Amino acid sequence: MSEQAQKFVYDFTEGNKDLKDLLGGKGANLAEMTNLGLPVPPGFTITTEACRVYLESGSEPAALRDEVSAHLEALERRMGKKLGQQDDPLLVSVRSGAKFSMPGMMDTVLNIGLTDASVSGLAHQAGDERFAWDSYRRLVQMFGKTVLGVDGDLFEEAMAEAKRARGAETDLDLDADDLRQLVEDFKAIVLKEAGREFPQEPREQMDLAVRAVFDSWNGERARLYRRQERIPNDLGTAVNICSMVFGNLGPDSGTGVAFTRDPASGHQGVYGDYLSNAQGEDVVAGIRNTIPLAELERLDGASYAELLRIMEVLERHYLDLCDIEFTIERGKLWMLQTRVGKRTAAAAFCIATQLVDEGLIDEAEALQRVNGSQLAQLMFPRFDPAALQERGKGGPSGGVAAPAERIAWGIAASPGAAVGKAVFDSYTAVKWSRSGEKVILIRRETNPDDLNGMIAAEGILTSRGGKTSHAAVVARGMGKTCVCGAEELEVDTKRRRMTAPGGVVIEEGDTVSIDGSTGRVYTGEVPVVPSPVVEYFEGRMHAGAEDADELVRAVHRIMAYADRVRRLRVRANADNAEDAARARRFGAQGIGLCRTEHMFLGERRELVEKLILADTEEEREQALAVLLPLQEDDFVELFEAMDGLPVTVRLLDPPLHEFLPDITELSVRVALAEARKDANENDLRLLQAVHKLHEQNPMLGLRGVRLGLVIPGLFTMQVRAIARAVARRLRANGDPRAEIMIPLVGTVQELELVREEAEQVIDEVRGDTGVDLSLALGTMIELPRAALTAGQIAEAAEFFSFGTNDLTQTVWGFSRDDVEASFFTAYLEKGIFGVSPFETIDRDGVGALVRQAVREGRGTRPDLKLGVCGEHGGDPESVHFFHEVGLDYVSCSPFRIPVARLEAGRAAAEAVGSDSR
Ligand code: PEP
Ligand code: MG
Repeated sequence: MSEQAQKFVYDFTEGNKDLKDLLGGKGANLAEMTNLGLPVPPGFTITTEACRVYLESGSEPAALRDEVSAHLEALERRMGKKLGQQDDPLLVSVRSGAKFSMPGMMDTVLNIGLTDASVSGLAHQAGDERFAWDSYRRLVQMFGKTVLGVDGDLFEEAMAEAKRARGAETDLDLDADDLRQLVEDFKAIVLKEAGREFPQEPREQMDLAVRAVFDSWNGERARLYRRQERIPNDLGTAVNICSMVFGNLGPDSGTGVAFTRDPASGHQGVYGDYLSNAQGEDVVAGIRNTIPLAELERLDGASYAELLRIMEVLERHYLDLCDIEFTIERGKLWMLQTRVGKRTAAAAFCIATQLVDEGLIDEAEALQRVNGSQLAQLMFPRFDPAALQERGKGGPSGGVAAPAERIAWGIAASPGAAVGKAVFDSYTAVKWSRSGEKVILIRRETNPDDLNGMIAAEGILTSRGGKTSHAAVVARGMGKTCVCGAEELEVDTKRRRMTAPGGVVIEEGDTVSIDGSTGRVYTGEVPVVPSPVVEYFEGRMHAGAEDADELVRAVHRIMAYADRVRRLRVRANADNAEDAARARRFGAQGIGLCRTEHMFLGERRELVEKLILADTEEEREQALAVLLPLQEDDFVELFEAMDGLPVTVRLLDPPLHEFLPDITELSVRVALAEARKDANENDLRLLQAVHKLHEQNPMLGLRGVRLGLVIPGLFTMQVRAIARAVARRLRANGDPRAEIMIPLVGTVQELELVREEAEQVIDEVRGDTGVDLSLALGTMIELPRAALTAGQIAEAAEFFSFGTNDLTQTVWGFSRDDVEASFFTAYLEKGIFGVSPFETIDRDGVGALVRQAVREGRGTRPDLKLGVCGEHGGDPESVHFFHEVGLDYVSCSPFRIPVARLEAGRAAAEAVGSDSR
């Protein structure tokens, strides 16, 4: 569309809430409220498109000036006065408003239109000289700071000086003369600092303010915020020009914010703050203390009743919790903003079910109002709210533990509640944790050298860096609690201490508590309690029980909706009966991956060592014969725990050297022994084997199916153990549903060879036991070649399970063990990744291979069973992808099962919603 034909300005009566891309969130919702007949001061919105043209070309679109003029004239006609008119000035606010809320990140200027000439006209009209000069000084201050780039502190200092000179406690104690003088002082500051007079032409004020809002899109704060919140950089902001209403016209005026429900708990009621005789920015700046909104009823009953009525209208219209900004001008209520409000994870669940009960939304919609990340947050242990509340009221009573006090508030980077002794370097973290201490690793920022310390610590605290900093990314990857960017803290690693505001000093060894779900940091020990949601999933709390709180009931209901609609089944990655039992309690419908290597650790490692060192067939067979019954017992336990549900057992996958001692350690041991001339024969043999099996890139070496093909008897021993365990369970009247899975297959020939041997073994077991057993045999698709030849591989496989961990590393050509702590942070910061591809499936690359393999695999074998068992199986966004491509199940760690169930339900409900749209 040519620029001329484009419309860059919309009156509030022309827009609606669905035009957020064009009008920004604020503009779209102001339009929506206008059309609902709510009291919104008239105005218009300049589109994000105009901003984009400005940002790209460096100047406003040619047509913008005339369009703004036309809308301004219409506004002036409507209001019966002109912008800046001397005897009765129309004043406007110029406010930013992007598609996604970026609180406090961009600019706003109020009272545009006031000049030396019009200030007395305003005083006359309002019958209040003080008010007019107060409004004018606000304009010069805000305009000076945001449009002309003058250091805001200079105005603050001048204001403080005026108050001091007057002996005034608050700004309200300054009279008209004081404020008139302050305006002069402010204008002098502008002249000195900006090198120009404060503009006396109203339209020039407005145009410059609009441009400043456009520019603020690329301000440092805004850019940083967008990076953290993953908001695209090219959206631009809209600008809202709105006729001013005044909350600073005396005690019957004021300004406030409100929520239609409590955004922390979801409870219905009146939540918000009000500030009498003030303009909007005073609330944010915290110049005076606000009062709870409920007290407005006493101050101005009529406005309060009107506000409640409007809140109800908004909730019924938006069908959700709304937050609101309003102003009361001499007893008349005006709505300045609304939007669907942000809320805590707990409130999201409670509100979704409340809205269902109120008949406002249906169950499918309720599922869209919550998400798996929120559920995951609710499952972390947390600080005892009772303990924190008590402290909030002015310190603990009883003195059970050292008193905890909140000392900082950083970025909630990785959820959980962690308590430990402060340490300031990784070496100490490792040392202390080895001696049984719990530690919190505190750094200014972390780097790959801190990895060991991070692993050893209960939690990580940094004073710098955002949600994508090294500390945040690595901690999330490890599932470790992390608070980062707690800038109020001064971390001095040399002196092993940090200083919090107010001079509180934390030395090495002092106890600190960090809350990765809220970003709060406390001194001392805050008691940690398990999450009630986990208690519920574990079956230790029933949603119907009297003491079950509202949250548990809400989670129970939402999970029931999800289970009812989801198509994907959810299995667990579990290697032992205990994990299997827990997974079942969490709702697992089978095991999608039992990694058998975990059965060879601990004391059984020696047996594997024997197998590897075996020189003769006899020795090897002996070693396998010892392992066989142990494996068989493992499987019996597992099948029993998952009786009646499928259990996919993967044959041995990792490189054998993982079962042998570390090459450096062993070399040193042998060298020392040789120097002493008492080298141990076994160690020498071991070292030989270690050297033989050593690989530069073990991830690409002798592992997976390759092991099965070159180590005689290994896979067959495992197959025999599985088959015998199945026979035992059948004889015990159990219902074992074992599936055998071959890892790291790249070509159908590999699978055929293993299959042939496996079938022979199963036949033998049938013969030996007299039990008629059947076992499904399938493979993992975790190499690009396997995905590309899936049609052939399906000839020999009854099921595929996508190993998206290996598939991701082989598609990208980097190893998950090495890269997350090295260049990933840089890649995230540069925007090459929005999120690690090991966390969320890379739809375009790895995802494309999965799609192709699904299509071709089913092409060969229409009833091919398809699942995924890489980490992505429990990742919210990836679950939607697996639903879309038509897998039968996802498999993930037991703790993530509820998240996967919920997201599978959301994916199904979303698909139904979009089909019927
Ligand atoms: C995978 O590669 O996705 C997988 C599940 O196997 P592992 O992580 O054990 O290599
Ligand atoms: Mg793998």
